[in-house]
Amino acid sequence: MFMTASNSSAPVNGIAQERNLVTAVPGPKSLALQARRTSAVSGGVGVALPIYVERAAGGIVVDIDGNSLIDMGSGIAVTGVGNAAEEVVTRVQEQVAKFTHTCFTVTHYEGYVEVCEALNRLTPGDHEKRSALFNSGAEAVENAVKIARSHTKRQMVVVFEHGYHGRTNLTMGMTAKNIPYKEGFGPFAPEIYRMPMSNPSHDGLAGAEAAAHAISKMNKELGAGNIAAIVIEPIQGEGGFVVPATGFLPELVKFAKENGIVFVADEVQTGFCRTGQWFASEHEGIVPDMIITAKGIAGGLPLAAVTGRAEIMDSVAAGGLGGTYAGNPIACAAALGSIAVMEREDLNAKARRIEEIMKPRLQKIADDTGVICDVRGRGAMIAVEIVKKGSMEPDAEMTNKVAKACHANGVLVLTAGTYGNVLRFLPPMVMSEQLLEDALTIIEQQFKEATA
Ligand SMILES: *Cc1c(COP(=O)(O)O)cnc(C)c1O
Repeated sequence: MFMTASNSSAPVNGIAQERNLVTAVPGPKSLALQARRTSAVSGGVGVALPIYVERAAGGIVVDIDGNSLIDMGSGIAVTGVGNAAEEVVTRVQEQVAKFTHTCFTVTHYEGYVEVCEALNRLTPGDHEKRSALFNSGAEAVENAVKIARSHTKRQMVVVFEHGYHGRTNLTMGMTAKNIPYKEGFGPFAPEIYRMPMSNPSHDGLAGAEAAAHAISKMNKELGAGNIAAIVIEPIQGEGGFVVPATGFLPELVKFAKENGIVFVADEVQTGFCRTGQWFASEHEGIVPDMIITAKGIAGGLPLAAVTGRAEIMDSVAAGGLGGTYAGNPIACAAALGSIAVMEREDLNAKARRIEEIMKPRLQKIADDTGVICDVRGRGAMIAVEIVKKGSMEPDAEMTNKVAKACHANGVLVLTAGTYGNVLRFLPPMVMSEQLLEDALTIIEQQFKEATA
């Protein structure tokens, strides 16, 4: 039986849906492994919380010391359907026993086609669409740019302040934040241009005004006719869950359409029910020419996709797109399992319910402590921006202090933001309400103690 009822705290996959600490966090076994990690793993690979996981299900992560932590990160918006969701596990097991790989560009298999059909059906717009599958978000972003350039025969790529698009060379160049993503890793690819982002809690501008500013810069500094693609996250992820003012995205879409520019929504973090819609673009009523997905698509297996207008996607010569592992059959099986869970359990409604529960409680913390200047986000993608009391000065130190205190008390939270002063919450949409309320109580306590 499939157990993800969001109002009950019934165990999921035999794991009690309760926070329970039996040692310090990290505990002795994790600390012992940490020593091995230091001598085996590159120091360039960071970590938010150095515990070692043994099992995970629903909204709980169990570490090797036996501690159960509430998962408010979903492995960065990946396991929205819950960790090791039964339907994902079953389909993966069936597929892995049949065959593990053929390379889709050597011989085909149905799962790949079925995932593309699902993407074409679920993404915004009822125009004719095509999809192509890849391994990671960054790889999909790279391919979206390749396709847009090939289709338009133009080179310029427009991105935005605070944007994040990945860690490969092209996507590093597209990413806004220097440390830690870019420092020392240049030179970066040419023909990438960064425009001002609508950031209503800071710039106070209406969407149309902010868009007019960006559009004026594109016209004057780049020339609209030279732009291949505008690539934007409809809600920024790593940049701190910046939600653009209403009207900003539609104005950009209009500008793109008028000038033959491919409008690309990077929905790697926002896609697949995360914001309470299948895709965050839907909140603004926009229909992107191309949409990039990854993270939440396959319940934890590595898979990514580019979905777009048929005439754009089919403009690339056969053989121009692909990759050895791209659209691996096991990852495709996982995606089909995940999508089945999202549809059957209505995870969009669950995400919206998470927003309903979280926002008032976080606003109360803001009112009580005076160090949160903004509570924002949509669905199960909610953040608080932390500042020095009575100012708009970013407070990364306080953010880290609260995050560490949450970790020590069994709530796994993540930070974000260009200034490192955003605490972001990405719970799995299947998390029980009781567990979510418990996490919020812990978060509230840590804010109170840190600001006392
Ligand atoms: C995470 C992320 C990426 C990169 O995805 P990877 O799978 O880590 O390569 C790209 N864009 C956005 C918006 C992301 O959040």
